[in-house]
Amino acid sequence: MKAYDGMYIGGEWRPAAGTDTITVVNPADEQVIATVPAGTAEDVDAAVRAARAAFPAWAATPPAERAAYLTALRDAMTARQDEIAATVTAELGAPLALSRKVHAGAPIAVAGSFAELAATYAFEERIGNSTVLLEPVGVVGAITPWNYPLHQIVAKAGPALAAGCTIVVKPAEDTPLTARLFAGLVHEVGLPAGVFNLVTGLGPVAGQALAEHEDVDLVSFTGSTAVGRLIGATAGAAVKRVALELGGKSANVILPSADLAKAVSVGVANVMTNSGQTCSAWTRMLVHTDQYDEAVELARTAAAKYVPGDPLDSASRLGPLVNEKQRARVRGYIERGMAEGAKLVAGGPEAPHPTGHYVAPTVFAEVTPGMTIAQEEIFGPVLSLLRYEDEEDALRIANGTVYGLAGAVWAGEESEAVAFARRMDTGQVDINGGRFNPLAPFGGYKRSGVGRELGAHGLAEYLQTKSLQF
Ligand code: NAD
Repeated sequence: MKAYDGMYIGGEWRPAAGTDTITVVNPADEQVIATVPAGTAEDVDAAVRAARAAFPAWAATPPAERAAYLTALRDAMTARQDEIAATVTAELGAPLALSRKVHAGAPIAVAGSFAELAATYAFEERIGNSTVLLEPVGVVGAITPWNYPLHQIVAKAGPALAAGCTIVVKPAEDTPLTARLFAGLVHEVGLPAGVFNLVTGLGPVAGQALAEHEDVDLVSFTGSTAVGRLIGATAGAAVKRVALELGGKSANVILPSADLAKAVSVGVANVMTNSGQTCSAWTRMLVHTDQYDEAVELARTAAAKYVPGDPLDSASRLGPLVNEKQRARVRGYIERGMAEGAKLVAGGPEAPHPTGHYVAPTVFAEVTPGMTIAQEEIFGPVLSLLRYEDEEDALRIANGTVYGLAGAVWAGEESEAVAFARRMDTGQVDINGGRFNPLAPFGGYKRSGVGRELGAHGLAEYLQTKSLQF
């Protein structure tokens, strides 16, 4: 157990204003691993002041210089990839190989992509008799969740720094250690004081103070739809910019011409990865009625490979959920699915281990579009298989939720999948499996959010436009 002190504010670790702490628990063995300070409105105010003071000079740096800092940050994360992975595994419970490859690997790629964008982006353009300047928005307040702890921070800090904004990050309560590690790297690469600040704390205390702070120009939030709604309302009342990355209930549409075995096994892997704690997870698998029974069997077999186990054991493919509250929530959804008449074909609500917040890989068949498990975000290793009669039926089901974050389409010919994807009400669609692209915009249609992250579209969120007329 380690008791950490301080908040990273104005380029140094400063003592917190209060004495409250947050306890960090390893979800695999339920042992307390650390405490960090629980920041207050006073800490948030100090961090915002530091960010404001640093803003003019940082905004005036040549983009190539900002790119160089982002490259240095990418290299520092690469050098510490093992330490990042171990930290994420300790506080989130993700299997170590996943932590190394995705939890550390994705932010390394994202930081690199923003270094490249900072160096190449057209921060000035000519339109007729006008010059249009794209200028940094100002001080950013970033509120992040625990599911991809480092990625979520870098997906906001990357574009903020590239744009010339300064930033205050309030990370999730469950995963402050990864955030502190990142702040240490910011210090190591010598980013000017106040450009990046970190305040650990509770959502309704430190998070709310940051969202409400009058000197924050843009609030960028990733997390639940319930909190996103609050933050959107606060930002709206203050007339400030807001970006919201919220929940999802993405459809994985397997058209009859697809390679069914591949589509099902990749689909199951997609849902089980990170124990289902992925907002873009393809939690609804849509299969043609003629292939449905075969798909259910394939899904059952594929899910059996995700044996829950100690994330430090290299054979484990499924770690625990992040905390007891999430486990109780996920088990509640599984019970609800059973009660509403879905057919449980794998897993279930029973805990597979006496300690650790584990949930068994769970597969439901005979799920109908109106069931709770087909409409609400579960955020656990739970897959629902739905039956469709024809393509129009599949489209209606795919588009029939309040969410629209991601999705997938599988078909024999790419063009057939693309034609279907064009009709989906969602922000990102993987065609025949897809492949992560750090430069592609990510974000929601409908209630899944406002704005985009990653790539040039993500960078644009952190810029405001000024026209000079000649
Ligand atoms: P959450 O909304 O409870 O917490 C997210 C962050 O908001 C945390 O830092 C938390 O401390 C803070 N927060 C909580 N209450 C607040 C308040 N009143 N004011 C200001 N900040 C507050 O969500 P979670 O439990 O961390 O994450 C799970 C949910 O987030 C899921 O629904 C999931 O879909 C969603 N999510 C979405 C994305 C995305 O990219 N769209 C990514 C990850 C998670």
